[in-house]
Amino acid sequence: MTAVAFLGLGNMGGPMANNLIAAGHEVTGFDLSEEALARLEVAGGIREGDIATAVRAADVVVTMLPAGGHVRDVYMKAEGVLANVKPGTLLIDSSTIDVDSARAVASAASEAGMLMVDAPVSGGTVGAAAGTLTFMVGGSEEAFAAAKPYLDIMGKTVVHAGGAGNGQAAKICNNMMLGIQMISVCEAFVLAEKLGLDHQKLYDISSTASGQCWSLTSYCPVPGPLPTSPANRGYQPGFAAAMMLKDLKLSQQAARAEGAKTPLGAQASALYQQYCEKGNGDFDFSAIIEMLRNEV
Ligand code: NAD
Repeated sequence: MTAVAFLGLGNMGGPMANNLIAAGHEVTGFDLSEEALARLEVAGGIREGDIATAVRAADVVVTMLPAGGHVRDVYMKAEGVLANVKPGTLLIDSSTIDVDSARAVASAASEAGMLMVDAPVSGGTVGAAAGTLTFMVGGSEEAFAAAKPYLDIMGKTVVHAGGAGNGQAAKICNNMMLGIQMISVCEAFVLAEKLGLDHQKLYDISSTASGQCWSLTSYCPVPGPLPTSPANRGYQPGFAAAMMLKDLKLSQQAARAEGAKTPLGAQASALYQQYCEKGNGDFDFSAIIEMLRNEV
């Protein structure tokens, strides 16, 4: 049994912490939300009133926070993680954040003598609850090897993507592809509708032809061809459009910083921005087809 401190017990962090508890670890948690702390206690965890107390006796700290600012703050402020953990504590940040923040926190952790990985996830709340997340991990070989047994409990696939920040790099590159591909599939269905081509026919043809991609065959944005996709249940997420916009913005922030040309990534980001500004951020990201049809 390992003493794990878990900070950020929201939609993702809550079920991830529960899986560590179920695997026999002692999980002490802190969150700004009273409800999140109450849920941890019900699941058999220990609640604490601040970060310093939660991490003091921990062998491993896991964080699952909203954005880069929260992660910098939680790790680097005086009452935060780095100033209060014991030497040799393993640090795992699974939040999806900008690469610069991930590298800045990893560098501060390394200076303080800690092993740290950035380990963002894909798989959503369903994967978090089922313990089937995919972890994309950035950090040294030593840090990856130390983190893997814990990531194996919370996930099914754990990939070492390279040095510090490379987990975040993998996550935003993947989701930039996903955002672009989803819009391309939606545009094709909208054009097919105008041309009198049946949804199922386009699906049957393109799913075995060169237009095939995950957005078509695993997440089809129109109801019918794939009964499991969010299109069949009123576009309830799934993966919310607001989350896709967050990841696309991170990809564009990184592209600007590195001078990478990503014109389709920029366009996908602008379209999701427009869609979310119309008040649709809580719908699944495949529902952007409704904006392309001028329905919303
Ligand atoms: P959430 O808003 O449900 O949870 C975040 C939690 O962090 C909240 O409970 C909040 O109170 C807590 N928090 C904020 N500041 C804190 C602080 N200073 N100290 C302690 N707790 C603090 O968000 P979520 O859906 O769980 O997402 C968490 C991360 O996972 C995000 O970076 C998100 O992009 C990423 N992610 C989410 C999904 C998803 O489907 N929800 C999928 C993949 C990745």
